[in-house]
Amino acid sequence: MADYQQVIDRIYTEVGPMWPKATPASYIPALAEADPSRFGIAIRTLAGETFTAGQADTPFSIQSISKVFTFAMVARLLGDSIWESVGREPSGTAFNSLVQLEYEQGRPRNPFINAGALVVTDRLIELYPRPKEAILDFVRSVTGNPDIYFDNRIARSELNAADRNLALAHLMKSFGNIHGDIDTLMDVYCCQCSISMTTIDLARSFLFLADRGVNPFDGTRILTPSQAKRLGAVMLTCGFYDESGDFAFRVGLPGKSGVGGGIAAYMPGNLSVAVWCPGLNAYGNSLLGIEALERFTTDIGNSIF
Ligand code: GLU
Repeated sequence: MADYQQVIDRIYTEVGPMWPKATPASYIPALAEADPSRFGIAIRTLAGETFTAGQADTPFSIQSISKVFTFAMVARLLGDSIWESVGREPSGTAFNSLVQLEYEQGRPRNPFINAGALVVTDRLIELYPRPKEAILDFVRSVTGNPDIYFDNRIARSELNAADRNLALAHLMKSFGNIHGDIDTLMDVYCCQCSISMTTIDLARSFLFLADRGVNPFDGTRILTPSQAKRLGAVMLTCGFYDESGDFAFRVGLPGKSGVGGGIAAYMPGNLSVAVWCPGLNAYGNSLLGIEALERFTTDIGNSIF
């Protein structure tokens, strides 16, 4: 077996100095303040080992990675009927694009673009009487860490700059695909995106996917093996917006990125891996994060392929 610690130490040393090439997201003002020289890597194996490099214990906002958790929360209750409201095809457009929605009658291409995630959170609000508490409870349980919270400053900053997401929600409501109150939806959505986690937490939180739907921290089954397979397939094809094909090509793992600079990915039956570096590329994905993960699967000689 590869020496994971040696591999990520080397990646940290070689990739870290490349950081000045990318800048953090600025359309959410509070995210623009992130220090682009921060760089953390964490691996957690199903056997219980943890390996870290860099600033893996610094908290940051997970942003769109939260879409995986909210989707799992909704899919486990709704089963296949969730696919009536949201598709499972790559969009080929930006994460916050409006254009396809008009042509496709308000049914988003997949749950990981913003439009799809808004539909999922709308259903979550219908299904869970206290949605914000339910989201925190879920993330705490899959992470095995009770100390995970929203970053209210980031949530407020996003809420004050939410014009595009509001436009998506209103357009979908006009097609009947958003059911509830849009202000409530936006509040819950901005809170879920603001969840503050470390790179170590993030690696731990994807272990239930590596374990095909079972939460290794308390033994409960969250998703059936079939639901876990499907969620992984949608992550592989849609988890990185219109860079998803390139991520699959370079890294070869299902995963999800967020504009906070985090990426979480996993190898079924084996391990989960998370990286964090706030500088983004043109697609809104962490530039060094992808570079680090490509080197990781290349160096260990293992991926899902
Ligand atoms: N909160 C962000 C938004 O809705 C999430 C986008 C992302 O992380 O990719 O714009």
